[in-house]
Amino acid sequence: MVDEKFTIDSYRDIAPHGVIDLLYRLAEKVQGKSLLHVNSTRFGGGVAEMLLRLVPLFNELGIQTKWDVITGTPLFYKTTKRFHNALQGDEQEITPDMYDEYKVVNEKIASELSFDTDVAVIHDPQPAAFINQKPEHSRWVWRCHIDISMPRRKVWNFLKEYVSRYDGAIFSLPSFAQKLPIPQYLIYPSIDPLSDKNKELSDEVINAVLAKYNIPDDKPMILQVSRFDNFKDPLGVIKAYKIVKKYNECCLVLAGGSAADDPEGMEVLNAVNNAADHDNDIHVLDLPPDANIEINALQRAAAVVLQKSTKEGFGLTVAEAMWKGKPVIGGAVGGITLQIIYGETGFTVNSVEGSAYRIRYLLNNPLISEEMGIKAKDYTRRNFLITRHLCDYLALMVTVLDID
Ligand code: UDP
Repeated sequence: MVDEKFTIDSYRDIAPHGVIDLLYRLAEKVQGKSLLHVNSTRFGGGVAEMLLRLVPLFNELGIQTKWDVITGTPLFYKTTKRFHNALQGDEQEITPDMYDEYKVVNEKIASELSFDTDVAVIHDPQPAAFINQKPEHSRWVWRCHIDISMPRRKVWNFLKEYVSRYDGAIFSLPSFAQKLPIPQYLIYPSIDPLSDKNKELSDEVINAVLAKYNIPDDKPMILQVSRFDNFKDPLGVIKAYKIVKKYNECCLVLAGGSAADDPEGMEVLNAVNNAADHDNDIHVLDLPPDANIEINALQRAAAVVLQKSTKEGFGLTVAEAMWKGKPVIGGAVGGITLQIIYGETGFTVNSVEGSAYRIRYLLNNPLISEEMGIKAKDYTRRNFLITRHLCDYLALMVTVLDID
């Protein structure tokens, strides 16, 4: 299903006052300039989710924008997944032939693409070595979406050789900033309130999705939406649910899928199915990448939304649920600590027991939960919508192109 496309003006009634006018003024300054985004997958994960929505809007604003994807070999994906894990702090074995594969794939794919835009934003570690092909006139910025607060030194030192040659780097949180000889920018990710993932849905559509997956509508639903990835701690979610279940009637939905650049998903999914252990109230959904309406409906139907990550650059799923008026219980890590205002828009937690305690608190206090949800939506409107994100990107273009 293809998501409906909207014009910038469609966001006037949703974005905070003044944002759309600011957007047009900034766009005027970079009229006719061109922009390239490169990442490592068109579907699955937050980066693809954002680019799918941002690229058409850049073009509508008069910035000719392309989106290229680096496609690699199985060894390349295995390597870059290990880079990802190591940059988020996990000990990983990365052999010399893996580093070589990274370099070879980057060189090969980069040589097949054209880099003739005024500005390029290269996302995450996978295509970072494209910098070897940067034309002199172009301004390139490396954007890091992962929680790089405590990277494993060896991998970061390897990557830093490339990153240091960019014209700037973007991080999602001040604590992710690194010692680099280039300017560093802070830009929060965003969600699109008009996409199929986030638009308003009727009760009929929501109920049809629940029926499709045999999810009861007469028990409060605890939900986590995430790729099947250990950093999202799906096993911790199941443990928390099992504690809650002793006291509260409820069901748990773990909705996930895989991303083309993530080879570990199947292993984690198997572990999740084992941990679910034929409990009829646990629903593990392995969804296709275009299940946007389904995820939207689940987030709207949920009583409590969890994002129990142990590392998180920024949880788009957190913003998505908050936009739907849900207080979120999230791991007290990375971007989640910025997204959730403790006790106001949700709760950050540090343990399985803490998660269970806060799930029970919200289940047992629906009025408080509703009030927190209203604040969560308002906070998301003010900080994490695509219109603010576009403004930040345009301001970045003005800065790196040295426009007055
Ligand atoms: N998502 C999805 N299908 C899934 C799992 C996740 O469409 O099965 C979406 C989710 O709704 C969100 C994005 O993928 O928009 C995940 O972004 P997030 O920042 O939460 O995590 P990432 O996967 O980038 O680590």
